Amino acid sequence: MNKGTQVRAKKHLGQHFLTDHSIAAAIVKGLTDFCETEYVLEIGPGTGVLTQFLFPNSGFKTIAIDIDEESVTYLKQAYPMHADQVLFGDFLASDLSQLIPNTFSLIGNFPYNISSQIVFKLLASRNQIPLMVGMFQKEVAERLAASPRTKEYGILSVLTQAYYDVTYLFTVDEHVFNPPPKVKSGVIRCVRKQLPPAIDEKWFFKVVKTAFNQRRKKLRNALQQFKVKDELLQEHNFINKRAEELTYVEFIELTKLIQQYGENNG
Ligand code: SAH
Repeated sequence: MNKGTQVRAKKHLGQHFLTDHSIAAAIVKGLTDFCETEYVLEIGPGTGVLTQFLFPNSGFKTIAIDIDEESVTYLKQAYPMHADQVLFGDFLASDLSQLIPNTFSLIGNFPYNISSQIVFKLLASRNQIPLMVGMFQKEVAERLAASPRTKEYGILSVLTQAYYDVTYLFTVDEHVFNPPPKVKSGVIRCVRKQLPPAIDEKWFFKVVKTAFNQRRKKLRNALQQFKVKDELLQEHNFINKRAEELTYVEFIELTKLIQQYGENNG
């Protein structure tokens, strides 16, 4: 029986229901192989194609949150034993420490219209989230896992890789969804780094965003607003480089330089 037939797919909620259960099982395995938390939070369970493998797993307690009332009603009926674990709400607007009183792993076939916002919320909540396995549109998944000097490499790559080790797991074809999205999808795993980078997050985000705002300019020009002396940038070999050439480690160094300089001069 296709359980999904009872929930109409709603485009404005980014709903594309995965129909291939072996792919769903592989995504969940991508999480369970690494999961050490007592809780798992699923964003956007929809018709429960991932949830069906999560609920029976006694290694953790699964909470699933969806913004679609019809999905929530459907899931509560389909899994009466787990009805209180299905929440109606907006993940982005949720206070995660209120939702789950502990650390948790994050999973989902994410609604593609809010991919970046999900990543930024993950980064902001990283203290609570040691592991994330999720499906994004392929382009976003590639961006998160991208290496320097590629066209996919950008703000999301640097920020995510500073806090998490990112692995691109596999690509998912558009034809295994109902309705099929216009693009392929990619599944990635993010494992939080053992040691958080020793850097002030506000400065770090600001430097990375500013550098990539003019990604084809050399850093000396792209970072002009920070008014760092050329000699200082020169000293560290940053002056003639472009944002897309720097690893996250170099961005951390660069941020420290700018922050120190800014604090001494501002
Ligand atoms: N996991 C399901 C559904 C994926 S579609 C599957 O793989 O088939 C994305 C799901 O995210 C939809 O169910 C949609 O209602 C839900 N969603 C969209 N925006 C959301 C938000 N802000 N918070 C929680 N869920 C959201």
